[in-house]
Amino acid sequence: MMSIHIPPYITFSKNVFVPVTNICKNRCGYCGFRRDFSNPEANVMTPDHVEILLEKGAKNNCTEALFTFGEPDNTPEFREILKNIGYSGFIEYVMDLCQMAIDNGLLPHTNAGALCYADLRRLKPLNASMGLMLETAGEVDAHRNSPGKDPCIRLETIDNAGRLKIPFTSGILVGIGETWDDRIESLLAIRKLHERYGHIQEVIIQNFIPKPNTLMSDLMSPSLEEMQKVVAIARALLPREIAIQVPPNIVSIGSLVACGASDLGGISPVTIDHINPESRWPSLDEIRSMVGDVELRERLPIYPPFVKAGWYSSSIEKLVKGYSDENGFRAK
Ligand code: SF4
Repeated sequence: MMSIHIPPYITFSKNVFVPVTNICKNRCGYCGFRRDFSNPEANVMTPDHVEILLEKGAKNNCTEALFTFGEPDNTPEFREILKNIGYSGFIEYVMDLCQMAIDNGLLPHTNAGALCYADLRRLKPLNASMGLMLETAGEVDAHRNSPGKDPCIRLETIDNAGRLKIPFTSGILVGIGETWDDRIESLLAIRKLHERYGHIQEVIIQNFIPKPNTLMSDLMSPSLEEMQKVVAIARALLPREIAIQVPPNIVSIGSLVACGASDLGGISPVTIDHINPESRWPSLDEIRSMVGDVELRERLPIYPPFVKAGWYSSSIEKLVKGYSDENGFRAK
């Protein structure tokens, strides 16, 4: 029988969730977030709007600015939108948002989709960590119209992040039509890159949630038993220093902690989960009652071992040092 490593504590970070744009070249079968250019709800946040959220996050004791995006293509329409808010390109815009977060005393964690080496290199000094879900190494129908979900492209981004020594988050999405072999192959692919570069700080095991008005709205989420099994397999396959993260607002975390999950990701006191807007963040008291006796510890968007190893730039050094204790967790 497989022995499961039960973590001595569960970590989380306090973030402000900034959904920078919902414009996306992909059309994932489960996505309730993306909008077409022609849709009145298509949005690219202006710097002024982002600033309001960042100030709110800073006032509410957050340490992390989580920037999320669709994967906009470099089309004339998208360039026009950026031009109207004062930017010549996507990466310039993202860099400016990261600098705004730093100026507000927040550490950026950017999830800007699949990026090339050069773009990652420009973003690295302005980020405490970055992320890209692999989702699955398998071919699934849900990604038939999503060129950006090609696993080779995504693994290349994770590889580039490793070459650049960027503390990195990846993960898999469970229940989108992938097989058990796909799940294992995905976890092994992430492990292989971590073995090469040592840069993966956490792997998210995220359950599919059906969204209204999507191609997969009639499908079921994976059962709790299935999630328990995936978490246990991930814990067994991944090195101990990689945290297994589960989202506390969309899955029952108590039993997943018992299977090896050790992180809850960002929990926001000020913003909703824009990807799962129907699922509110539980309060810390609610989380405490879900995880039982296991201690809850706040961390920064850069995990303690990377804080201690100095995997951050001079642009964010003051913030990292100011926020962290001698073990790399958030100072009390
Ligand atoms: S890449 Fe993300 S935002 Fe774009 S369609 Fe897929 S899930 Fe939605």
